[in-house]
Amino acid sequence: MKIRVLGAFGGEGLGHRPSAFLVNDKILLDAGSVTGALTVPEQLAIEHALVSHSHLDHLAGLVYLTETLGFCEEGAAVTISGIDAVVNAVRRGVFNDVLWPDFTKIPRADVPVVKYRTLFADVEQRVGDVWVTPVAVNHTVPTTGFVVHDGSTGLIYSADTGPTEALWDAARGLPGIRAVILECAFPNRLGPLAEVAKHMTPALIRRELDKLPPSIPVWIFHVKPQFHEEVADELAGIEGGRISILEQNHVYSL
Ligand SMILES: [Zn+2]
Ligand SMILES: [Zn+2]
Repeated sequence: MKIRVLGAFGGEGLGHRPSAFLVNDKILLDAGSVTGALTVPEQLAIEHALVSHSHLDHLAGLVYLTETLGFCEEGAAVTISGIDAVVNAVRRGVFNDVLWPDFTKIPRADVPVVKYRTLFADVEQRVGDVWVTPVAVNHTVPTTGFVVHDGSTGLIYSADTGPTEALWDAARGLPGIRAVILECAFPNRLGPLAEVAKHMTPALIRRELDKLPPSIPVWIFHVKPQFHEEVADELAGIEGGRISILEQNHVYSL
């Protein structure tokens, strides 16, 4: 499985793009940044978007992607997939003919750019060339992480979450898991904010490590750009050598 980091951050800054990953060139795993990270032919190759939750830093890239798909190639389309609450939030809150046009009718209703698919939580479902299991995590709006597996190797994606259990339970014992992609938003001094906003700090991650499947690398994403150096210093102090921060634009092979 190939994972390309389109956006590694929990917000936008100069050279920092909001969270998005591209799996095997065709499946977005969250979509905070898309068009600013890919050529037009690369955008046209996208077929699916797995959306963890409705916060803009995870889906803003979809709005510009729809223009590329709609205006550059007849028949190009993306299926936006997530649990019911997330799909409904995208449909009603974004592609609602107010914030952005309803791309389920563009260019025509019979060949739409946007299709929606509701995924079941805690069930493994086929999406493109991988298997995907959404698992509810601990955030301020309905949110799922995802277990993504191609039959031989897989990863666990936390999305945005504070301390959680179900995702690690779902992953425990699964063969072939090669990485945990785990969020960290704030430095330790903003622990109270992290608690309210339901995000991780390095101190919380240190505790979370005991619950994770053992000896699997932990790749950090979603650091708020303004805290990047501070959080990186704090993460470097966590012993065990399992933790590294994902690099934007890099391609990781599992
Ligand atoms: Zn976020
Ligand atoms: Zn969020």
